[in-house]
Amino acid sequence: MMPLRKNIPLPGSPDWKLTICLECGRECWDRPLPEGYKVGRKMCTECALRAAMEAQNECRGNKTI
Ligand SMILES: [Zn+2]
Repeated sequence: MMPLRKNIPLPGSPDWKLTICLECGRECWDRPLPEGYKVGRKMCTECALRAAMEAQNECRGNKTI
């Protein structure tokens, strides 16, 4: 997860890089990941939360299709 720049205006560490969330297009901070750690898709904290909530809804069978 990448913290949004609107939440964190200054990088928490010099190796944070300003980038854009592929999901929502907002500016956020790309942090280097520990070795061996994999993420399926890079997204900001808000998109990650939304994705987690949507996954939860699907588990409960509340699909809106
Ligand atoms: Zn996003």
